Amino acid sequence: MKIISSPLELKEYLKGENNSIGFQGSKSIGFVPTMGALHQGHISLIKKAKEQNELVVVSIFLNPTQFLKGEDLDKYPKKDEADKKICKLSGVDVLFFPHVEDIYGTDEVTLSAPNVRGYVLEGNSRPSHFNGVLTVVMKLLNIVTPTRAYFGKKDAQQLNLISLMVKQLFMNTQIVPVDTVRESDGLALSSRNVYLSSKERVEALKVSSSLRAASSMVGKNILDSKEIVKEMRKSLGDLEIFYVEVLNLDFEQLLHVEIGNTIILVEVRVGTTRLLDNIWL
Ligand code: AMP
Repeated sequence: MKIISSPLELKEYLKGENNSIGFQGSKSIGFVPTMGALHQGHISLIKKAKEQNELVVVSIFLNPTQFLKGEDLDKYPKKDEADKKICKLSGVDVLFFPHVEDIYGTDEVTLSAPNVRGYVLEGNSRPSHFNGVLTVVMKLLNIVTPTRAYFGKKDAQQLNLISLMVKQLFMNTQIVPVDTVRESDGLALSSRNVYLSSKERVEALKVSSSLRAASSMVGKNILDSKEIVKEMRKSLGDLEIFYVEVLNLDFEQLLHVEIGNTIILVEVRVGTTRLLDNIWL
């Protein structure tokens, strides 16, 4: 596995990889952007990229511009050596591991999240978060120019906004959504789960169980969004709730669940940790 920190060196390397196979055409590149502290969720993205592409590039970059002042940028878990091992064992071809100065200069060109979709849900509680996400993903996609890039459905709003960006800016990468990986008790894997105390870890299970409750209501043909949200709020108990929403795949409010076109999203705070989760129905 090659480890590269310079964007220009990575571009050159990928160009060389493609030239090396002559006129048979370009190698397909699968790209998995991450912020490190890798877990099975990230590994499932890498596996899918391996299945679908000839070359797999993973990036590890703790992007400062998507953190608001006072958020957890400084204490975000860092596991550089373990991450490198995971990538190597997962068959990653190139690990892109840039420093902040490799990605950002001074007096930067930036992207803005769309005024509506970028400022609801997580964008409402973290204004400017998605400007940082879109800016860095745009930069990374321009450096790697992958055939396909892999994003988790767990971060549904992020996935939606990145898909919108790629479409609206006529970019050449296919965005591939990947299902959420969970612990056996239902908790969605997240690098931030390490912040949870053992008591909070138990509290956190209310998030996935509220989603299971919603899913079983839909199974009984109870499709009314208000009823579902009410039941979910009940099962979330006294957790601090940022939102519980029933939306279609375009992130518009739904009065009734439409099978095949619905995401139910929830975000809560447990202790000091934000947890987000969702189900796609
Ligand atoms: P992060 O390192 O948290 O920025 O995540 C990098 C990528 O992994 C994003 O596309 C996430 O949506 C995805 N991801 C994070 N957690 C999970 C999970 N539990 N299952 C599947 N994908 C995930």
